[in-house]
Amino acid sequence: MRSRRARRHIYAFGGGRTDGRADMKELLGGKGANLAEMSRLGLPVPPGFTISTEVCTHYYAHGRTYPPTLRAQAKEALARVEQIAGRRFGDPANPLLVSVRSGARASMPGMMDTILNLGLNDGTIQGLIQQSGNPRFAYDSYRRFVQMYGDVVLGLKPEHQDEEDPFELALEEKKRSRGVTQDTELDADALRELVDEFKALVKMRRGVVFPEDPHEQLWGAIGAVFGSWMNQRAITYREIYRIPASWGTAVNVQAMVFGNLGDDCATGVAFTRDVANGEPGLIGEYLPNAQGEDVVAGIRTPLQITRAAARAWAERNEMPEEERREVRPSLEERMPTVYRELLRHAERLERHYRDVQDIEFTIERGRLWMLQTRVAKRTGIAAVRIAHDLAKEKRISKRSAVLRVEPEQLDQWLHPAFAPGTERTVLARGLGASPGAAVGAVVFSAEAAIQAAAAGRRTLLVRIETSPEDIGGMKAAQGFLTARGGMTSHAAIVARQMGKPCVAGCGALLIDYAHQQMTVTRPGGEPATIAAGALLSIDGATGQVFRGEVPLGAPPVSRPEFGRFMSWADEARRLRVRANADRPEEARLARALGAEGIGLCRTEHMFFEGDRIDAMREMLLADDLEGRERALAKILPMQRQDFVGILREMRGLPVTIRLLDPPLHEFLPQGEPELADLAKKLLVPVARLREKRDALHEANPMLGHRGCRLGITYPEIYRMQVEAIIQAACELARERVKVLPEIMIPLVGAVSELRILREDVEQVARAVMEKRVKVPFTVGTMIEVPRAAITAGEIAEVADFFSFGTNDLTQMALGLSRDDAGRFLPEYLRRGIYPQDPFVVIDRAGVGELMRQAIVAARRKRRDLKLGICGEHGGEPESVRFCHQLGLDYVSCSPYRVPIARLAAAQAALGT
Ligand code: PEP
Ligand code: MG
Repeated sequence: MRSRRARRHIYAFGGGRTDGRADMKELLGGKGANLAEMSRLGLPVPPGFTISTEVCTHYYAHGRTYPPTLRAQAKEALARVEQIAGRRFGDPANPLLVSVRSGARASMPGMMDTILNLGLNDGTIQGLIQQSGNPRFAYDSYRRFVQMYGDVVLGLKPEHQDEEDPFELALEEKKRSRGVTQDTELDADALRELVDEFKALVKMRRGVVFPEDPHEQLWGAIGAVFGSWMNQRAITYREIYRIPASWGTAVNVQAMVFGNLGDDCATGVAFTRDVANGEPGLIGEYLPNAQGEDVVAGIRTPLQITRAAARAWAERNEMPEEERREVRPSLEERMPTVYRELLRHAERLERHYRDVQDIEFTIERGRLWMLQTRVAKRTGIAAVRIAHDLAKEKRISKRSAVLRVEPEQLDQWLHPAFAPGTERTVLARGLGASPGAAVGAVVFSAEAAIQAAAAGRRTLLVRIETSPEDIGGMKAAQGFLTARGGMTSHAAIVARQMGKPCVAGCGALLIDYAHQQMTVTRPGGEPATIAAGALLSIDGATGQVFRGEVPLGAPPVSRPEFGRFMSWADEARRLRVRANADRPEEARLARALGAEGIGLCRTEHMFFEGDRIDAMREMLLADDLEGRERALAKILPMQRQDFVGILREMRGLPVTIRLLDPPLHEFLPQGEPELADLAKKLLVPVARLREKRDALHEANPMLGHRGCRLGITYPEIYRMQVEAIIQAACELARERVKVLPEIMIPLVGAVSELRILREDVEQVARAVMEKRVKVPFTVGTMIEVPRAAITAGEIAEVADFFSFGTNDLTQMALGLSRDDAGRFLPEYLRRGIYPQDPFVVIDRAGVGELMRQAIVAARRKRRDLKLGICGEHGGEPESVRFCHQLGLDYVSCSPYRVPIARLAAAQAALGT
């Protein structure tokens, strides 16, 4: 008798008694806890027991030994299994066989070891032949067991990469000598010989005798499973998914059931709903007369579980229904009673767990056994559909539904994706900078993209990096691929704003503009040369670049369940969500995706369209104020039209318009041919242009003559912009369109900058309104220079609102160049110097602390100061949560991230 005080190491399940529960995953691992739960629910689970994860921890803490009471507890548990199964371990007349499997708290598919058919030896094989009446099956099970055990426990594996598996070699040799090609063609005799040959191999290569004693086999297998917790595969997997080594794995020992005893047997996998698209109804695959590993190994094509799915399969594969019924019957048709039972259990499990289940089952001689259940992994599309449907069916609350979907998963609703299951060849991999799938012919210049678009051709713009000059081409191309740059590179920001896919920082590309081609280096392979015009496909979510055209599907965003799901999220959130948008069509899109205003309209893009850039350049070349004003006067009406467009789209909602920000040299052509072109156009000597370009050159343009520093030194630029904004607002007000412009001054570091510029703004606005109607407007600033954050109290007295520009604030607070950090940041992340890319997720300890202090100081001065964020972080879920905690009023992000931010804000408010 076990002492009552002895710690429990083993938890039994099956056959009416169950020690564990679903919520004991820490102790029993996911598999063990769910087996216990199914057994508790009275579902048919083959009897067995789970050795707890604490034993694993003990095993490693005590020089790979077990707690002293473990063996006695195991003996007792095994006796129970024997009793329920009506078979005895090691009994030659009626043997019990078991499986030994790992099962950690978090699923680690394929990382650890498993042994099946344990308990077979030269004695018990006779019993198995008797039980099954099928010597071939019995010897095949024996041969598989010796092979698995020899590999996993006794360590007979290939010794180097080029060596073939010694067991597989022996198997091949046997097939050759018998003149057959398939494993299934080997008869019982051949398999019996193989068992002996396998054992001899073990003796020869490993110097040990294959254990005949089932108990020795069992403890060998248990040790091997615990040992596999520390194999390299598992260690690497844990590193990637941040699973602590201290969790340990449990070991599940369970009576074997066989799906390969004959035609009344089968094995399969089922989902309670479709995990690709979320459609309700059981779905899955099975194989008659097979073992579980056959389904996974993909040697035979599995059949469908339901008749409807089988018919759909046949239709896709153009197989006539009559033939289908013959060669590909569904489980529903083949074993209707078992099918109905499976359906019942599946529905029960889904109701019980209140979520979609991923189920493994085996049918042994017409009897159904449930081998595993777990919450099913699903696509983003399915995640929303399932959460929505479960709430509608009143299985879960709307709150739970909102918490069930990862915000990033919404992406799949917004972008056309590559159709699943299509063939593709990966050419290279970069940073997935803006999600979605794009296909097009490679072009190496913006011009080429524009020309191709005019001719109705789809392109991918491939550049070393993009610049504002490329904007026209970017509008024309399907997506962008750059050799350099990170998540906040120009290409990445523009891509997300336009909702176009972008793969950035693809270091394998060597782009040669002169020869209109690129060389793609591939590890361990020949470099490939891709010329302009070649078709490529990019996946902006994964960063993959494919050769040729991968077919696209449509975005599903207009489906009603998406709208309903998002409305539940909106009811829960406190943070408002705005969009970063510069053009009317972007504003319209943002509004359609739920934006409640524009948080950042970057006006620099407006200077690049059509022939405006010429007027801008004329201004830059002018020698005096008068000349500059003359040039700006040409831009004014165009800017006004832009603002009319965007304010009209956003009627009734606030629109934050930022005055010009980038350094002026960005507006001048850089290359000699472009310089010559421009000289011709403007009728000025090339030398003069070159001189101007060189004069504007800066060593650190990001820290240079940009932002409000332009407003201070060239006040006429900002005045023109303000005039255009207020004129636009007046024009719309006269049409009774409600407008709420918010004028935003970038890169302020000192309160005096804002004071001077605010006065300018108000003066211009007053002058415009004197001649027209009065419109409401506010003036605020970006907080993107650390000094502004530190002196936020002072600045708040002059501002109506703050918008945290966390792109620049990160750059300046961490002293990391937005454009160049890609060279070393990956190494920093790999080594954990920064836990996450600070340009993606707000660096709470540094940048976040600056924000917090700024907010406290500012609110102390002005309780009603409106606070927002418009850096790229505004659409990143973890950062949105942080913004909620900081008490910001809104986040602003690119249009396609608006739904993601809405959901993240809801989840933050729901306190997860
Ligand atoms: C920022 O710096 O966070 C910002 C929004 O401005 P930009 O990215 O245009 O510099
Ligand atoms: Mg900025």
